[in-house]
Formats: sequence, C-alpha cells, structure tokens
Amino acid sequence: MPTVETVRGAVDVAELGPTLMHEHVFFVGTEYLQNYGAGWWDEEERVADAIERLRSVAARGVRTFVDPTVWGGGRYIPRIQRINEQVPELNIIVATGYYHYTDAPIQFMNRGPGLIFDETPDPLAREFVRDIAEGIADTGVKAAFLKCAVEHPDPTPGVERVCRAVAYAHRETGAPITVHTNAHQQTGRWVVDLLRAEHADLTKVVIGHSGDSGDLDYLTWLADTGALLGMDRFGLDAFRTTPERVETIVALCERGYAERMVLSHDAMCWIDWFGDDFTGIRDQLMPNWHYEHIHNDVLPALREAGVSEKDIGTMLVDNPRRYFTR
Ligand SMILES: [Zn+2]
Repeated sequence: MPTVETVRGAVDVAELGPTLMHEHVFFVGTEYLQNYGAGWWDEEERVADAIERLRSVAARGVRTFVDPTVWGGGRYIPRIQRINEQVPELNIIVATGYYHYTDAPIQFMNRGPGLIFDETPDPLAREFVRDIAEGIADTGVKAAFLKCAVEHPDPTPGVERVCRAVAYAHRETGAPITVHTNAHQQTGRWVVDLLRAEHADLTKVVIGHSGDSGDLDYLTWLADTGALLGMDRFGLDAFRTTPERVETIVALCERGYAERMVLSHDAMCWIDWFGDDFTGIRDQLMPNWHYEHIHNDVLPALREAGVSEKDIGTMLVDNPRRYFTR
C-alpha cells in the first residue's frame, strides 16, 4: 500500500479521506515573530486557538489538512507537532520549498550553479530533498510535497531558480508540487511550461489559486496539461466571491474536469500580513475565510447547482489521494 508522510508519520493514502489541499495552520515569519512579536503573539493562546479550529474542522469530516507553509512563510514544525498531538483525528501533511515573489534565499546567493561556489545540483534543491527523504531539521517529520511561488507575470531569476530546484527535488523523490500562482496574471502558464521543460510529472502539480479566475480558456488550458487546478481560496471574498467560485467549478464539472480540481480555503489561524489584530480584521471583513466554509456552505451550493456526489468525492478525496500516491 502506498503511504504518505504526515506530521505523525506515514499514513496509507487510502486513509486520507476528505482532504483540504491548501490550508496553513499559521503564516507567521519566524524572524519577525522573534524580534517584533511581543505585542501581538501569545504562543499559548495561538496554539490553543489552532487546536480548537482544527478539532472543529475534523468534526466536520475533514480527515487530512495539507499545509504548504514553507521557508519564507515561517514554517516551524515543532509547533505543528504540538498542535497535531492534541488533534490526532486529523492528518497534517507538511511541505518543503521556498516562498518569495522575487528572490531565492540570500543564504544561497553565492552557492549554486554558475555562482562563486559553483555547485551542481543546486544546494537549495538538496535541502528540499533532505526535508523529504530524511526529515525536517531534527523533528523526525518528513515533508511530503514541494512548494514554490510565481506571483508576477515576468518571473525573476530568483523565482526561476527556486522553481527549478523544486523540479529537481520532485524528480529525485517523486514528491508532488504545489505552486502559488496569480490567476489573474495567468502565471500558471509560465510555471507549467518550466516544469514540463524540467520533466516534471504535471499530473503531480497543483496550480494553486486557479479558482481566483473564472476564465475557462485559461483554466481548461491548465487542466489539459494534466495539472490540478487549486480551487483553494474559498472565503477570500476580496479576490472572488463564493458564488463566483462555485459557478466556475460547476462549469468545469459540466465539461468533465472534476478529476482536475481540488478544494480548499488558503485559510490560517494567524497570518502576520494584516497588523496586530488579524482575527478581528478577518471576522469583520472576510467572515467566511475559515476552514469550515467549504463544508458549511460550498458543498451545499455545489449540490444545489447540480454537481454530483461522485464529482464532489473526486475533488475532495480521490484527487488528493492520487496526488500523494508515489
Ligand atoms: Zn497559501
């Protein structure tokens, strides 16, 4: 039986069940937190809040929570382990990679192909491979997928380097890939072309945030490459409302694309991008941006619009299982 690594060890992929494919427990920069977090971060309060939110989404029937928080987004596995211990009914799958819209890590500016310390393969890629093959730091937790970000339509050399390092680690390990993209700028096109040139298996690639777009030409072009569309920002109404997001999924299901979509919210218990009162701001401006919106509201809306139980199961259970099957 194929297995996938989770925070609490290897799990049979057949047991992943209903899966949210792109959520963060936290998105909090570690260096920022350590130096400037005194006014807004209470470790015990934040951990207790996360435990409560994860228990609650598990009670809705979600069995697996896929967290693409990597370096650049404040990945800190010991805190996730501590939380998962208190929510054993939920599988949490963690990632490796790098999240930045313009640069590769400055620690690697001198080391790598063609640099002062000319190293091939890229030592950045070797770090990603180690996270997957041996585990992250000394936590004993192995990353099960790779993450990179392509936000701007004309990616910098730093972004291209990170994407190529992710492709290398994918080829070495077979771990699947999730890419943050800007759907309005259609940056998925660039990264699909790059990953194809790097001989990646595009059926093991999620083009994240595709659901921010309703452009069916773009979405079907992506899906026809074999890639999965991340319909993964439900509740982020500022980018696109839930009825609009639902309408696009319905249209794609009608065209036979249920096998090419996964569902999620891209939500988090805390993110440090909105000042000191994230939860207050979220509850006021985007009250549906939480882990349960899909089960509470989106699935009923999809059923109401005629999407079959089979297609819902395909998006929520079968596609994630196939993605994590190596
Ligand atoms: Zn995200």
